[in-house]
Amino acid sequence: MDLQAVAVKGTQDVLPANAHKWQYIEKTAADAAARFGFREIRTPVFEKTELFERSVGDTTDVVQKEMYTFNDKGGRSITLRPEGTAGAMRSVLEHGLFNDALPVKAFYTTSCYRYEKPQAGRLREFHQFGVECIGAPSPVADAEIILLGNAILTELGIKDISLQINSIGCPTCRAAYKNALKSYFEDRKDELCDTCKDRLERNPMRILDCKSPVCQAVCKDAPVILDYLCDECSAHFETVKTLLDTAGLSYTVNPGIVRGLDYYTKTVFEFISSQIGAQGTVCGGGRYDGLAKELGGPDLPSLGFAMGLERILMVMENQNCPFPDPEPVDLYIAPMGDAAQAQAVLLCNTLRQEGFKAITDLNNRGLKAQMKYAGKIGAKFSLVLGDNELNEKIARLKNMKTGEQREVVFPDGVITAIYDENIQNTFQNLNESLEKFNG
Ligand code: ATP
Ligand code: MG
Repeated sequence: MDLQAVAVKGTQDVLPANAHKWQYIEKTAADAAARFGFREIRTPVFEKTELFERSVGDTTDVVQKEMYTFNDKGGRSITLRPEGTAGAMRSVLEHGLFNDALPVKAFYTTSCYRYEKPQAGRLREFHQFGVECIGAPSPVADAEIILLGNAILTELGIKDISLQINSIGCPTCRAAYKNALKSYFEDRKDELCDTCKDRLERNPMRILDCKSPVCQAVCKDAPVILDYLCDECSAHFETVKTLLDTAGLSYTVNPGIVRGLDYYTKTVFEFISSQIGAQGTVCGGGRYDGLAKELGGPDLPSLGFAMGLERILMVMENQNCPFPDPEPVDLYIAPMGDAAQAQAVLLCNTLRQEGFKAITDLNNRGLKAQMKYAGKIGAKFSLVLGDNELNEKIARLKNMKTGEQREVVFPDGVITAIYDENIQNTFQNLNESLEKFNG
């Protein structure tokens, strides 16, 4: 194929035939977030490079290896966002939103960019649904955020997801832990991969997040952060667990969950599916109490999560989760001749104003070709308009599924007939859902 017509490695199109699945996932997530009191935030796709260096952390894989960074024509270093939190926090600080009611609760659906090795569930352009709750120190916020993540996955019909939680403490408890970790890994340095040897010097906790099986084996016996938590972090974590217990949400405490970004503190969590291979984490999040201050803002303990939408879609397709059917075209009007064409456009517009999906011929095709087209796009009804119909103001509305035809006076008759049919469908849907509900 022509080179120009091939997408960049690690990127993916959403084609019209699949778009309804994306819309469904995005809407389900946004509606759930709204019920938890979150409102949407939209931030630019690129930011100053230093924003991500400062917030994501310069010892992380994301900053060290994965960012799409370039100089713009004015010589500024710009980076395509590798994640959504930094931009959202920057925006909240810049606009002083923290001066209004706290916490600031915002959600977003965004594309993210990371130069990674493309594979199933790992792309260079991918999409996240994320939420940020800024200025909420209480463990109740942790529990609520986790419950929101769970609500979205449940509403999407996703099953067999395990929730794994951990606390990675605050800078105070982490100092002692880092020392213990460092001396443990020093002793087994030879077994680590080259990147981890480097991590040992710069940030030993990053080793726990290494994907290499050899390093993971070394990590198995490493000291556990939970043994080093200070009183406050420990009490915070206990309350989060109690709240989750009370809410009836089951979880596993996994000290191996440390998250890939530096800004996390205290609670971290992942929702993991075992059904889509190695890239099983569909949602990851936690607290980032130090981030606002790190970016020059006030002290705003905060937390959030991000879901990888490609992975969510993979799990849903894998588990045959139901997606609502894409809405079909209600009516295809097949005009014969110029006068009929003009009437068809008019009738289409009237129907569109009534809320129906109505289309007509744009290609000057003959009747047979038009009907074939109407069939291909799955139109519910078709209507042929020729000279006779124009003169008599009567046309035949055809139900494309059953083949039944019905004479209608147009335009009003057409509208009424389609309404009738839709109302019947609505009743049928209602009855079906009631039947399901009644079991
Ligand atoms: P992983 O451990 O899989 O690399 P991560 O810790 O780097 O994930 P986060 O930065 O926490 O991921 O991003 C949140 C979510 O975004 C992940 O849980 C995942 O679902 C999704 N995600 C991250 N990187 C990618 C990617 N390259 N392609 C597709 N989805 C991704
Ligand atoms: Mg990663």
